[in-house]
Amino acid sequence: MSHTHIRKVAFIGTGIMGARIAGHILDAGYDVTVSNRTREKAEDLLARGAHWADTPAEAAADADVVFTMVGYPSDVEDVYLSTDGLIRRSKRGAWLVDLTTSSPQLARDIHDAAEVEDKHAFDCPVTGGEQGAIDGTLTLIIGAAEKDVEPLLPLLETFSSRRFYFDQPGGGQTAKLCNQVSLASCMVGYADAVALAEQAGIDVDRMLEVLANGTGGSGASRTLAPRSVAGDFKPGFLVEHLRKDIGLAISASEDLEITLPGAETAFTLFDMLCQIGGSRMGTQAITLLYDDEATCAAAGLDWSLLDQGEEGDDHECHCGHDHGDDHECHCGHDHGDDHECCGGHGHGDDHECHCHDHEH
Ligand code: NAP
Repeated sequence: MSHTHIRKVAFIGTGIMGARIAGHILDAGYDVTVSNRTREKAEDLLARGAHWADTPAEAAADADVVFTMVGYPSDVEDVYLSTDGLIRRSKRGAWLVDLTTSSPQLARDIHDAAEVEDKHAFDCPVTGGEQGAIDGTLTLIIGAAEKDVEPLLPLLETFSSRRFYFDQPGGGQTAKLCNQVSLASCMVGYADAVALAEQAGIDVDRMLEVLANGTGGSGASRTLAPRSVAGDFKPGFLVEHLRKDIGLAISASEDLEITLPGAETAFTLFDMLCQIGGSRMGTQAITLLYDDEATCAAAGLDWSLLDQGEEGDDHECHCGHDHGDDHECHCGHDHGDDHECCGGHGHGDDHECHCHDHEH
């Protein structure tokens, strides 16, 4: 199949990443219908010729390919598996491509449910950040074999420059979570370095140049550390999304009965940042955790909020789900009375938990 056979594209989720990606698809000449929870975030695309649909189901009704780029696994679950979701309401033979960073198990469930309905669903999380989305040079991490998604290549190439195939449903999400735990530890690494340099009174920018020119540097230290140092905490990539990703990776590690000490440290820090008001900041705000209270307050953080929320009824587990009564969570946790907190700790008497304000 070529571009001529795939003409109509639906795009669900026009946030930071989705709006940019949908824009490239539009520019390439496809007939694009968009849907987003908040319509204003799609206005620019509508002005450029995209059509609007009130719901994902309406957007997908007529589409050859449906992309989703929503926030959390719970959003993905809702958009695909609800009664009025994409699995039921897209047309037979349609391609359903989830670009969200989400749960590998949920990706497998969606793939299987789609197959029964004679539709092709695969996970396709991305990396490259907002800049990669703006430039149309994202890397795609695909939970399918290359030959199976070949018909979509011209479409995928409109917003990506590299594609890696992991051959099985959920494989893309697992590889993406590997990327995220590595990213998270790189961020803790550069935040430590910046704090040490600042306190020691050496030139921080010059120290970052050393990192950039040696083995201590990372993509994160090169692109994000300068923004941290400049006090630019605008997202980019939301703190709450990185917390979600690290949580999903920790859940996966629990299933495999391994521990990820770097990820657990990073989870503690990014979770703390969420608790004190930084959830909608860019991830580079991690360096604020090392600053004094006045600097934090000036950036909009409030340390008095630490450990005040997130337990009990509206407790948000690190998988990023909204655990309502009948919600089936994909993080693998048992969210009952004896809820296991991050990293699946047993919280014995002498365990010092670093996640939330649990009563151990
Ligand atoms: P975002 O700006 O929050 O975008 C998510 C969009 O999805 C929002 O516009 C949201 O609507 C919409 N949405 C959520 N649930 C929906 C539903 N049920 N129906 C319709 N629309 C829905 O986040 P983002 O930065 O673009 O990230 C999206 C995903 O990509 C996340 O999983 C993130 O982890 C991942 N990711 C992000 C980056 C990055 O650098 N930003 C890089 C790689 C991967 P509202 O407008 O109402 O909130």
